[in-house]
Amino acid sequence: MKTLFSGIQPSGVPTIANYIGAIKQFQTMQYDYESYFCIVDQHAITVPQDRLKLRERTRQLAAIYLASGIDTTHSTLFIQSEVPAHAQAGWLMQCISYIGELERMTQFKDKSSKQQDGISAALLTYPPLMAADILLYGTDIVPVGDDQKQHLELTRNLAERFNSKYNDILTIPEVKLPEYGARIKSLQEPTKKMSKSDSNQKSFVSLLDPPKQIEKKIKSAVTDSEGIIRYDKENKPGVSNLLDIVSVLKDATVESIEKDFEGVQYGEFKSFVAEVVVDELTPFQERYEHYMNSEELDHILDKGRDQANMKAQKMLTKMENAMGLGRKR
Ligand code: ATP
Ligand code: MG
Repeated sequence: MKTLFSGIQPSGVPTIANYIGAIKQFQTMQYDYESYFCIVDQHAITVPQDRLKLRERTRQLAAIYLASGIDTTHSTLFIQSEVPAHAQAGWLMQCISYIGELERMTQFKDKSSKQQDGISAALLTYPPLMAADILLYGTDIVPVGDDQKQHLELTRNLAERFNSKYNDILTIPEVKLPEYGARIKSLQEPTKKMSKSDSNQKSFVSLLDPPKQIEKKIKSAVTDSEGIIRYDKENKPGVSNLLDIVSVLKDATVESIEKDFEGVQYGEFKSFVAEVVVDELTPFQERYEHYMNSEELDHILDKGRDQANMKAQKMLTKMENAMGLGRKR
């Protein structure tokens, strides 16, 4: 059976963009693979985090994975920092990465430009750690949103570099983007991607927002002055983004939605978008509450940690042997 790996950072509460771009695919895909779902808390600390909030979001993210249908009788759900092989293999990957290629990563450019109190070295070396996350499991496929495509390309390059320099032990992973909704935009600046770590709360709908707030955020989404509901990413990024969201959540084509809303005002369309999002998230939030309040959550994470440790440690040993670290094992 082939292997699947995907991670989400506990850097905020996941948004509908994370849901549409990544999480929504996990439930069905998991059974076709040996699947690993990771809470990548070591990535989250590449930018400043409040200690207590980080802990809370880590738990929340575990419950969100479970509420989205991750079945831990089949798949492994775990926290990155609880599996030391990630940081260890991350170091090995850093040693074969070039500063130039890391500086070319658009996420590094975006995120470093927002840091006021200095840029952490780890913001630059984040992609080699992400490569380690993936490569430790012999991963074949990585379902992610479009923004991670560049990191995945680097992961493939690093794996190939490692294999040709040392020993042919790493699997070259493929990226899997969703057919639609691979890049959901900010509600306030629809030319930028929606991000859970955005300081402007109005720019995203989080998966845990109550219905009233969802409605308010979508009603205040930036559109344009044309007044026609038409898909045109170039000239109408705001309206096109709302059409993308509805199209994925309703499993309907953009054309059919355009047709249904011909001659309708933006206000009415936005109410419909809000209703679609609320309908999707209400049952999701009920499942989330169940997991947040159950003791099951810790047991699941303990089991996940043990399973991931076993698999990752084996690969780490192979990598260290290939590079000549320590004594031969
Ligand atoms: P941060 O701002 O902290 O980087 P984020 O919203 O980008 O948060 P990540 O944890 O970095 O979320 O990414 C989790 C998953 O969500 C990844 O698979 C990523 O590709 C996907 N994703 C992130 N943003 C979007 C988006 N705007 N549209 C679609 N998918 C997205
Ligand atoms: Mg991100």
